Amino acid sequence: MSEIQIDKIGLRVGLEIHQQLATGTKLFCKCLPIESEEYSIGFARKLRIARSELGEFDPSAVFESGKEKTIVYYGNPECSCLVEQDEEPPHELNPSAKETVLIIASALKSNVFNEIYVMRKLVIDGSNTSGFQRTMLVALGGNLEVDGKNVGIQSICLEEDAAKLLRDSADTREYSLDRLGIPLVEIALEPVSGKPEDVKKIALTIGRLLRATKRVQRGLGTIRQDVNVSIDGGGIVEVKGVQKLDQLEKVIAYEAKRQHGLKIISEKLNKIETERIARERDVKDVTDAFKSCKSKTIQKALGEGSVIKVIKAKGFAGMFGFEPYPGIRLGKQLGELVRFYGLGGVFHSDELPNYGIEDQEIQQVRKILDMQQTDGFVILAGNEKRLEVVIEAIMKRIEDAKLGVPAETRVATATGETVYLRPRPGASRMYPETDILPVIVSTNELEKAAMKVPKSWEETLLSLQKQYELNPQLALQVFDSEYLDLFETICKDKRISPNFVASILCGTITNLERRRMDAKLLKSPEIVEVFNLLAEGKIAKESLEIIFEGVMSGKSKSIFDVIKEHTLGTLDEKELNKQLDELIESNTKIIEEQGTRSISPLMGLAMKTLRGKVDGQKLNQLLENKIKSKIDNKSKGN
Ligand SMILES: [Zn+2]
Repeated sequence: MSEIQIDKIGLRVGLEIHQQLATGTKLFCKCLPIESEEYSIGFARKLRIARSELGEFDPSAVFESGKEKTIVYYGNPECSCLVEQDEEPPHELNPSAKETVLIIASALKSNVFNEIYVMRKLVIDGSNTSGFQRTMLVALGGNLEVDGKNVGIQSICLEEDAAKLLRDSADTREYSLDRLGIPLVEIALEPVSGKPEDVKKIALTIGRLLRATKRVQRGLGTIRQDVNVSIDGGGIVEVKGVQKLDQLEKVIAYEAKRQHGLKIISEKLNKIETERIARERDVKDVTDAFKSCKSKTIQKALGEGSVIKVIKAKGFAGMFGFEPYPGIRLGKQLGELVRFYGLGGVFHSDELPNYGIEDQEIQQVRKILDMQQTDGFVILAGNEKRLEVVIEAIMKRIEDAKLGVPAETRVATATGETVYLRPRPGASRMYPETDILPVIVSTNELEKAAMKVPKSWEETLLSLQKQYELNPQLALQVFDSEYLDLFETICKDKRISPNFVASILCGTITNLERRRMDAKLLKSPEIVEVFNLLAEGKIAKESLEIIFEGVMSGKSKSIFDVIKEHTLGTLDEKELNKQLDELIESNTKIIEEQGTRSISPLMGLAMKTLRGKVDGQKLNQLLENKIKSKIDNKSKGN
């Protein structure tokens, strides 16, 4: 194993950025784009086999339909109507979404078409009730400057977001309709060569340009990246579902390592004697040989009526477990592939004997398939009909290993790796939407949009900094966060220091999220209310973290519940003075011994009972005055 030299493998990365627009209503109906977990509507559809109207089967479509699933949709009337249910044709295009995409195209110097056609893009995973996603190619070309370098824009599309996947099991898949139909702008960039961190910088710059328009949604899930990654001589791998920039950087680095690892494997394979797998000769049913196998997985499969099949790969001994880079093995790729077909995994020759499969079974397998020591094999267990499809896929994947990197679609994991999702879809996925007339873009509209292009994000940032006297770091944090609108609402009358508001929104709340608390439980109007209470002196600065923690941990339903449960309301002056006087009286000894320095231990004692109920600074001042006057009285008394 060696260290990968990422700048020497011909890494190329194409980014596709999907950003939800803040248009108030959806793209083709008046439903509100709000996420909701309360569903009053529910209906089911069978995933039907789809043939595109151009008459060609889409490979990914045929593939998915082989899985025969029931799709269940949930929604509520506030954020879904008959359009989302595909019971009514789409209404007119949302004019605000149109204007926003024109502004974005203008900002990216892209060439907008005079007429925009609504197209249907076939989707067969059930994420759209109609079986297709509506998309419009709005503009082509353009560029963006990142760190003094020009990054080319390929295309800009306006499209509908898909339904949100709730659950997926072997025969049912459940979606919620609230996200379906939210306007998305899709910006496809020209592929760039460079390091993962350079690509992250590009994505960050695009994200900031979009946020500077103040016409896009903010927060996790509102901006998503699909990434096309390839290296010299390999197929293009599409990675879906990247939501965070750090994850983007990791995903590209992982793909570079995986793809180059596969290339090393292919080079090694090409030096040894292998043979194309022949179905008749190299695939055999070995169920009988495993009847008394000690593997729990095998016994469970046999109990469910599964059969066990083995695929022989001539010359492959040592190749399934070979690891050019840590964690990159052909065996792992095969495991990911069969999981797509609903199998738990595979056993391959380089990892056996193990997992309860013993030498005696291995010897029998080798005998049945007439294997040499230099040959490798893969064991599969499952339903006979299903195995038929899986065996074809595995045979192809083993053949492809000699070629290097197969083109496929993968999905990003939260930790920044990727796993196999499905074969790459074919090209015949678009056909015209017959329910909507072409959308005309007038010169007047284009001119208007050009005037609305925001200043650069750097300038927007500077004006934010100036307007609220924020320090540069906090200004950037607010600008990049999902809280910019909220920040501006709270700071409108400047009753509270904007720096303090920014540090709570981007510091305290983020820290609580890092402690695995859920910021989604915190509703914007409640956050505004907390700052109102603070401005009115009804709660203390110190209680904000307690309040947010109470709600975000799920322990309390609302901010008012937390305030009540923790008695966080500020004490009135009289009560506060009374409590502090009592504290002084019961600690006269400390004051006599330590003089004014006794403020420190007494403050500690006071905070025990008063934390969150009194402003810390105010408490400190009051206590200091009381200690001083106590000392003065004492000396006068002497
Ligand atoms: Zn609707």
